This record gives sequence, C-alpha cells and structure tokens, in this order.
Amino acid sequence: MLARIGTDRSGAAPIYAVDDVFADLFEANARYAAVKHEVFPSGVARRSLAIVTCIDSRIDPLAVFGLVPGDAKILRNAGARVTPDVLRTLALAVAVLGVTRIAVVQHTDCKMESAPPGELRRAVEESVGTPLPDFDPLAIDDHTTTLAHDVSALLDSGLIAAGTVVAGLVYDLHSGRLSTVVAPRHS
Ligand SMILES: [Zn+2]
Repeated sequence: MLARIGTDRSGAAPIYAVDDVFADLFEANARYAAVKHEVFPSGVARRSLAIVTCIDSRIDPLAVFGLVPGDAKILRNAGARVTPDVLRTLALAVAVLGVTRIAVVQHTDCKMESAPPGELRRAVEESVGTPLPDFDPLAIDDHTTTLAHDVSALLDSGLIAAGTVVAGLVYDLHSGRLSTVVAPRHS
C-alpha cells in the first residue's frame, strides 16, 4: 500500500513517501516475474518498425498497432516530436536494430496541441518557480504542419539511411483509428 504524504500544487495529484514510492510496481513485477515469459533472442525489431508517439497515457501502442514485444522500437515524448534524441535513437535503430520504416504518430486531444500559446512553458516555470525563457515545449501548431515538419526533419537529418520509409500519422483517441497525414516517403 502506498503512503500518501500530500498532494501536488494542483491538489489533485498525490505525492507519495519516498521509501515506498514504487512499491506498487515491485508488487506487480514480482507477479510478472513469477510467470514464465518469452524473451526474444535479439533486440532487432522483428517487424522492422519504429514508432514515435506521445507520452499520453491513454495510448497503448502495442494494442493500437497490433504489436507484441519484440516487434518494434517505440519512442515516446510529449507530442511525438522529432527531437535531437529521437534522431539519435532512430539513427541507431536503423543502423543497428533492423528498422526500415518509421511512423511518427501524433494523436487527437493532445495537450501539446490544445494548450494556449505560452501556457506549457508557463506551467513548467511555475512548477519550478523560476523563469525559463529558453525552454521550448515544442507545442504542436496543427497536426498537418507539425508532422510535415518532423517527417522532413527525419529524412533530411543525414542520420537515417537512404531507403528508410517515414510517414506522419494521427491516432484518434476516441475512434481508435489511425489516419495518414504525411504519406510514406523515403530519403
Ligand atoms: Zn499527446
């Protein structure tokens, strides 16, 4: 049982005691480890696929794409943006881990798209109590513009091997359906 010692600034999110803050995870892990589970022999993406998607906890990438562990590299960050570390990771995934196709998947009802301009940076500033003029949350203007930008950033990075196919998709949280916004193309 997790010990709550307070709530965050919003009053809605619990803050847990440090000593047992991950107790629920270890309890679940003990049950997981007690059951025999298959481990694939290598970290190569069995379906040659990498997916960049958002951290939104309502998205279940394995279920949405019909995947099982071992099939794909899944990268997640706020807004599913192509950042320097996403580029670094995908360069390695393509060069070393068998990835030949990359889907950048934004989603409907994303906080990174719906927040008014400046709100995300102000939220971080307020959470740490100091101005952060250089902090860029990489908010999404609109899916079409941002996905076109990020797909081009990937293809033009010089880090992704020629022939790797990249597309920009949007996942509708409510219908569960994917749609293509930036058609698949390769460098
Ligand atoms: Zn999101």
